[in-house]
Amino acid sequence: MPAAIIDGVASAQHLRAEIAAQVSARPADLRPPGLAVVLVGADAASQVYVRSKGVATRKAGMVSVERHLPATTSQAELIDLVQSLNADPEIDGILVQLPLPPQIDAAAVLAAIDPDKDVDGFHALNVGRLWSGEPALVPCTPRGCMKLIAEAVVSTSGLNAVVIGRSGIVGKPMAALLLAANCTVTIAHSRTADLKKVCREADILVAAVGVPGMVGGDFIKPGATVIDVGINRIPTPDGATRLVGDVVFDEALAIAGAVTPVPGGVGPMTIACLLENTLTAYRRRMAV
Ligand code: NDP
Repeated sequence: MPAAIIDGVASAQHLRAEIAAQVSARPADLRPPGLAVVLVGADAASQVYVRSKGVATRKAGMVSVERHLPATTSQAELIDLVQSLNADPEIDGILVQLPLPPQIDAAAVLAAIDPDKDVDGFHALNVGRLWSGEPALVPCTPRGCMKLIAEAVVSTSGLNAVVIGRSGIVGKPMAALLLAANCTVTIAHSRTADLKKVCREADILVAAVGVPGMVGGDFIKPGATVIDVGINRIPTPDGATRLVGDVVFDEALAIAGAVTPVPGGVGPMTIACLLENTLTAYRRRMAV
């Protein structure tokens, strides 16, 4: 029997509708949640992401503040803007779109964001809170992955989970969330010995690598839940391009128990979880 396809588009729509309902059910005298997204420069992919975040934010009934700065912006100018958003009582969430131009140290900018407005969950305080089991704003992509896993797996307790990738935005927080969900977690990376063997032990396999089609059927334990975080644009024979994940989807379909497609899997959940984090930050700030 082919694997179940985990529908990230439907899950994201459902989550976004739920968030919109909660926003509109707020007390009449309260302002809506506000999310500020800062874009430095004119990177084409970043512009698309920022635009779609703005649209999703407004659709959820929140206020979207988009600040575009030129590629020549200095680190001090960007941190000034972040600090003014930190102080803005109408802003609950701040997201600085990455990557930043080379003259800016992204870590310094992320450290300047008020941790309680850090809806990307990248601030060291939120990273520490996540690993120490305290309430934290959690990075959106791993948070979305956990929601998709919950659709396929009745209980994660005691399952073997393997995360391929150890970045601060996906791999590490993903591992922390799986650990908090009582999985036995392995984090694999480019130096992992016998990666296939490690992956074949996984009841839950999360691929967050950025190498198209790296995870073939021979990486997958029969019946496993496979979450493909990778977003890779590859050329097609007709000269166009298309998006593929890190997993060979057709091979995963034949062996896994459940698998996310690319596109239409993890991607849509990321923005929905950004809205959820914004609502969480708003609630904490407004004490509602
Ligand atoms: P990074 O480049 O920061 O990290 C990639 C990780 O993969 C690294 O830890 C690296 O190991 C590991 N890796 C690279 N090559 C191999 C290999 N051959 N074998 C095993 N491990 C390997 O990427 P990100 O974490 O930022 O993103 C990963 C993917 O997820 C990308 O395709 C990105 O586009 C996508 N993404 C998707 C999102 C979504 O919303 N769906 C959001 C964010 C990212 P090492 O540390 O040893 O170098």
